Amino acid sequence: MLALRTRRLFDGVRPVPMARPTVLLSGGVIEAVLDGPPPRGAELVDLGDTTLLPGLVDAHVHLAFDATPDTMGSLAVADDDTLLARMRTAATATLDAGVTTARDLGDRGYLGLRVRAETADAPHLGPRLLVAGPPITSYGGHCWFLGGEVDGVDAIRAAVRHRAERGVDVVKVVVTGGQLTPGSLPHEMQFGPVELAAVVRESHRYGLPVTGHCHAADGVAAAVSAGFDGIEHCTFVTADGVHADPALLARMAAAGTRITLTLGTVGNGGGGGGGDPRRAAVHAALRRVAGSGVPVACASDAGCGPGKPHGSSLAYGVEAMVDLGVPPTAALRAVTSGAAQVCGLADRVGRIAPGYDADLLAVHGDPTVEPGALRRVAAVLRAGQRVR
Ligand SMILES: [Zn+2]
Repeated sequence: MLALRTRRLFDGVRPVPMARPTVLLSGGVIEAVLDGPPPRGAELVDLGDTTLLPGLVDAHVHLAFDATPDTMGSLAVADDDTLLARMRTAATATLDAGVTTARDLGDRGYLGLRVRAETADAPHLGPRLLVAGPPITSYGGHCWFLGGEVDGVDAIRAAVRHRAERGVDVVKVVVTGGQLTPGSLPHEMQFGPVELAAVVRESHRYGLPVTGHCHAADGVAAAVSAGFDGIEHCTFVTADGVHADPALLARMAAAGTRITLTLGTVGNGGGGGGGDPRRAAVHAALRRVAGSGVPVACASDAGCGPGKPHGSSLAYGVEAMVDLGVPPTAALRAVTSGAAQVCGLADRVGRIAPGYDADLLAVHGDPTVEPGALRRVAAVLRAGQRVR
């Protein structure tokens, strides 16, 4: 049995007031949390003046994207071996930052499934991964270059079946346009209600959750009406502004829709709007979402462009969320227990409590007071093994 002693404990829900928090681990699982000396026979690891948190959960990454200004171009010229090597490096960088669980919401050729298997066998190589494979999109639609283009209900059903047979964890659908793809506009729809209903019906038939890339306010509404389990980005943009309809948010809360906000850029928390009125309006909408009572994850969308490197981006997202006016403990929940809930793993990760996986992050300083402390990694454990 391993006993980790720390100075402060955030258990994934709240800071736990203890003088000498000690977490006992055995067999890759958390056995107990106590205040005081460990039981005789336990191997004590004193983490010094640190805060111990659950390993972080990043609900939205793209290991295949290289965080350059032209992710699409560099992907196009990379063969599968090159891309796989890049994804392995990204997975390692992600774990280095204390992210012990990550959901890859768009790869090419299902390469994420290979990395998922590798990190499952060897926890020091990267986080536990949930993988969507190539996102389902319309012809020429956002992220078409990942290979998931479909047209019509029959093709959608076949695409879902194919993903289920390959063993994906979640189905990702590009409901609206996005910024990354030339010719694609975030406020425009890519699928109609019949197609969206078909993808949900087919995914649920295979027991798979469906999450939708939705920037447009109309897209969020359409995906919620179709029964999507999750919404990515959720910026509520329209052709001429931003409209986060309170009635729609109430519907999402009632339906249990899980929202993943993608926030934070390295070197710039990005929560203030930076003088750009549209950006400020998006942030006002995100603030409303964060306070709406809907389960919310704060995620990085790591890899999708400059300022979004794998690993450290997520901590900047927490800072951005705090900049939006969200209390630090709530922002930390959005990368631990809340993100685990969004990923469907609430009973296994994202909390420091008996029975949970021994995925842990120790940082210097106190992120419940100063979120930037999240970047000062002191130790990372995954499945009970110290990996950093
Ligand atoms: Zn993305």
